[in-house]
Amino acid sequence: MATTPDTSLAARAKYEPVIGLEVHVQLLTATKIFCSCSTRFGNPPNTNVCPVCLGLPGALPVLNRRAVEFAALAAMALNCRVNETSIFARKNYFYPDLPKGYQISQYDKPLAEFGRIDIPAGSGTRKIGITRVHLEEDAGKSLHEGFADSANATAIDLNRSGVPLIEIVSEPDMASPDEAYEYLTRLKEIILYTGVSDCNMEEGSLRCDANVSVRPRGQKEFGTKTEVKNVNSFRFIREALEYEIERQVSVLESGGRISQETRLYNPNEGKTYSMRSKEQAHDYRYFPEPDLLPLVVDEKWRAEIRSRLPELPEGRRARMVAEYGISERDAQVLTSTRAMADQFETAAKAAKSPKRVANLVQSELAGRLKAKNLEIAESPISMAGVALSADLVESGTISSKMLKDLFDLCFERGKDFPKVYEQEGRPQQSSDTAGLEKIIDEAISANPRQLEQYRAGKKTIIGFFVGQVMKASKGQGNPQLINELLTKKLES
Ligand SMILES: [Zn+2]
Repeated sequence: MATTPDTSLAARAKYEPVIGLEVHVQLLTATKIFCSCSTRFGNPPNTNVCPVCLGLPGALPVLNRRAVEFAALAAMALNCRVNETSIFARKNYFYPDLPKGYQISQYDKPLAEFGRIDIPAGSGTRKIGITRVHLEEDAGKSLHEGFADSANATAIDLNRSGVPLIEIVSEPDMASPDEAYEYLTRLKEIILYTGVSDCNMEEGSLRCDANVSVRPRGQKEFGTKTEVKNVNSFRFIREALEYEIERQVSVLESGGRISQETRLYNPNEGKTYSMRSKEQAHDYRYFPEPDLLPLVVDEKWRAEIRSRLPELPEGRRARMVAEYGISERDAQVLTSTRAMADQFETAAKAAKSPKRVANLVQSELAGRLKAKNLEIAESPISMAGVALSADLVESGTISSKMLKDLFDLCFERGKDFPKVYEQEGRPQQSSDTAGLEKIIDEAISANPRQLEQYRAGKKTIIGFFVGQVMKASKGQGNPQLINELLTKKLES
């Protein structure tokens, strides 16, 4: 949890936060953006390198077509306009993991602009603008541990140097850490749907920097912003922003000034620390990259890329609400990843009753996941398991009470439903034959007219008796067994 400086609520209420986010997403191409080295994560240090990504003099970059397509696809999914012509630029700075002394990025003519993401807000949605999506290369990595002599030296691994990234820059449209969290959640979801990145934060394929300032409520001009860098989970970003907003308010309230700077978040302490004064764009001496032609993505190519856009989460939710009669909230859980939504739909279509699958997910599964603090992707019960359990209830083989017990066992044992169902010896509801026979006898003697009709050849009247027996057994009887026993009695 973030520990916050002591700012009174009244002071806090006088100010309004302004938040903008910069998200770097690593593209899932097999090779790097300007050379044919592998992008594979976790290979031994400095094995995926060549003269281009090592920044050796005279080596020339060649643009990876796939990276452009992935970037444009992501941009389209974020409702951006993909520009016909964009320009690569050199961003000059020195860092040990940047051997060329500059990063190839895009500056005043980015690949795509003017996008948006709608985030849930109250009972409606709120539009968060996306300023731009541009392509750039990643830098290498400085290693401070995990090798001999790491106490005295830092090593450089250039495997990541030249891995393709897109940077997604939002408008400063978010007014609270919660909105920033929502925006990031939606953004990640959309990118995952497009399949252009795995968005794995632990491996650094999704990184987020947050710009935040506060201003007196009602004031038009922005306050001075700080940038919180390299926070490695959405939850920490929310906490870092909460801390940073409180800090800025307390500085202003005590008559101080905010200095424009880059700050780092320490999640253990819940605090941000000043790292360096924030550089301005002109510090980088951007200029057009002389070794690359302008990037042209013409109408035909754009159409080709657009045709590969999958159904996106928002549209899919709307369709699933209509198709399976589930709530908006449940649709949100079920569409949180494309794999999850696919699994659910496959299960729902394979099951006898899609609605029952949806209901089980909402009630029995969601409740247990919440109690165990698990994400649906971590559920011991797969969607195929849910589908099987739904069918067993649907056919009357097991009762809803038995389903609840079996689900409990699945969670206790961390095993999927089909497995536990087998382990428990494929239980069936009410095989209490004697009890059922008694109820059947009563049903028959209470309805002599129907018995007569049955014996006169109207066999379909058995449905009436099944209904009577089910009612008398309070729905606990197994319909198949009731049917068998009834037929025997009626025929005798
Ligand atoms: Zn290379």
